[in-house]
Amino acid sequence: MAGWFETRPISPGVTLITEPFVHPIFRANLYRIEGRDFDIQLDFGMGIRSLSADLDFGDKPVMAIASHAHIDHVGSFHEFARRAGHHAEERDFATLGDNFTDWFKSLDGAVSRQPYEGWELQDYRLAPAPLTQFLEDGDVVDLGDRRFTVLHLPGHSPGCIALLDEANGEFFSADAIYDDELYDQLEDSSIADYLATMRRLLELDISIGHGGHGPSFDEARMREIALDYIRTREG
Ligand SMILES: [Zn+2]
Ligand SMILES: [Zn+2]
Repeated sequence: MAGWFETRPISPGVTLITEPFVHPIFRANLYRIEGRDFDIQLDFGMGIRSLSADLDFGDKPVMAIASHAHIDHVGSFHEFARRAGHHAEERDFATLGDNFTDWFKSLDGAVSRQPYEGWELQDYRLAPAPLTQFLEDGDVVDLGDRRFTVLHLPGHSPGCIALLDEANGEFFSADAIYDDELYDQLEDSSIADYLATMRRLLELDISIGHGGHGPSFDEARMREIALDYIRTREG
């Protein structure tokens, strides 16, 4: 039987990780970014099965970076010792309590396969994962052989962050922008902030974008998504 997580190399040193048996609404794109000195694990899925136990990326140290504190991105965040994210969601990471779990549990086909024997949807919950390190806009995460600039891109949620490799234009945008239905009316969303983020993204040079959901996109597609959003929300 295939594993719970599906992995696919998408660029040199980068693996896309998904949970194909999770309902599409809660199926996020997670990324492993390998570096010389340490790896980045960007986002963590639902935590239904253990990301760190199921996947073997070797023994290199790992910096766990959560793009934001929504349920579909932080389930296995607590499994990592070095946990980084934006301070705007510090309290959410520290509790991760009622974080859309009721919504997930209410879905018909929340999971399409039993994750392991004895697993019960009604017992599903998130484990708290307090941040051990803050990442702010403009911070640089240096893996030794490649560097990522942190972008703070609020709107979808207040602490959404993204990672940009300015040397090659590879952009990990998480839920700030992706090629699928965007959510800007969740309880912690802000349309005004999202509009500002989209305007900022119109100016950003990238070679390829990897979002928190949906397929990867190029710069032209990113601009199209941003412009569509601005037109829709500004009327
Ligand atoms: Zn989200
Ligand atoms: Zn998401």
